[in-house]
Amino acid sequence: MAGAQSEVADLLSDLIRIDTTNTGDSATSAGERKAAEWVAAKLDEVGIDSVIHESEPGRANLVARIEGTNRDRPALLVHGHLDVVPADPAEWSVHPFSGEQRDGYVWGRGAVDMKDMDAMTLALVRDWARTGVKPDRDIVLAFVADEEAGGRKGAHFMVDHHADLFEGCTEAISEVGGFSITVRDDLRLYLVQTAEKGLAWMKLTAQGRPGHGSFVHEDNAVTRLAEAIARIGSTRLPTVLTPPMREFLDAVSDAYGVEIDPNDPDEALARLGSISRMIGAALRNTANPTMLDAGYKTNVIPGSASATVDGRFLYGQEAEFEKQLDELLGEGVSREWITYDQAVETTFDGPSVDLMVQALQAEDPGARAVPFTMSGGTDAKSFETLGMRCFGFSPLKLPADLDFASLFHGIDERISIDSMQFGIRVLDRFLRQA
Ligand SMILES: [Zn+2]
Repeated sequence: MAGAQSEVADLLSDLIRIDTTNTGDSATSAGERKAAEWVAAKLDEVGIDSVIHESEPGRANLVARIEGTNRDRPALLVHGHLDVVPADPAEWSVHPFSGEQRDGYVWGRGAVDMKDMDAMTLALVRDWARTGVKPDRDIVLAFVADEEAGGRKGAHFMVDHHADLFEGCTEAISEVGGFSITVRDDLRLYLVQTAEKGLAWMKLTAQGRPGHGSFVHEDNAVTRLAEAIARIGSTRLPTVLTPPMREFLDAVSDAYGVEIDPNDPDEALARLGSISRMIGAALRNTANPTMLDAGYKTNVIPGSASATVDGRFLYGQEAEFEKQLDELLGEGVSREWITYDQAVETTFDGPSVDLMVQALQAEDPGARAVPFTMSGGTDAKSFETLGMRCFGFSPLKLPADLDFASLFHGIDERISIDSMQFGIRVLDRFLRQA
């Protein structure tokens, strides 16, 4: 693995320098084609063929298949997105698309989300190809567009139009999981993502009687909407412990030697530091008001007012979430989904999970792997529809004091080169046998 470990930082720097900002609008997004062609060239250098399919001009998705020695076994998918969220250079210590290497870190937009995993995967399969390593089962690689805007032009498109490329894939690994939280010197929790919340972005519309702003007026759409979103925004929905989070909390309880109140686990979670903001959201359905739109003149009461709310529901909680919302909305306020995507969940067991656990422990004797539910969404939602069990497993042994959660979409996003080298060693162990 020496070759892979020595080139991963440079691969990541090169990939960060290809600006693949996804604004959510194809007219202003760029770079995905260039990035996919760059990946294709890196694979081609070592004799791995790939295909690129575009959903729209420039929105490129690359797939390659590495044949395993045991072709009777089902395949495993490693997927990563090539797009990144925007970054404002004025806010950064280094230019976000410089890919600068400094103090043992690679800096730039995408360094943790998720060009790091893209580079680790590439470095590993290039090393395999150069040294003649073949995995046991087929490994399918997918480098896709548009994840940061919901994946319609990336993973969703590939699943809808090129499902044949994923033939035989029963399991998938990708981003947001496999990273460490340091409990103490000889104990680190590695969070493997086994579930993702569903996404229910909605528009609320309040109706009322339009009228003159100077009159006595008791049927005001703006007031009605404001009351509804105030209720939604200030209500903490009840805790629901799904299987992965139950297991996760047990592990936290064990690791820190604390009792966790199942009705109020948030206090115990605070021990995990900044990552608790992400984890805490996986203990309940959430709904956060995000945009408001009403009226056109100070002295005119409008007949309607609207707002958007970012709703996220746990696996199996769709119906309950709708009930919770309707209780909060009140009279005269209606809701409609703007964007809706399923929640996914698999179990933390089976031969592949055992191998993840073993691979982590072989590289870090203090590793304890635990499942968790991701509060956001990834392309796993798309690939799950083809029947794959999806895991967030991009292994990284992180420095104990690093505020990892804040680096996702954050300013000065960066990844330590050591962490990626560790990740390559774990992935090598895992993917060879998985
Ligand atoms: Zn991502």
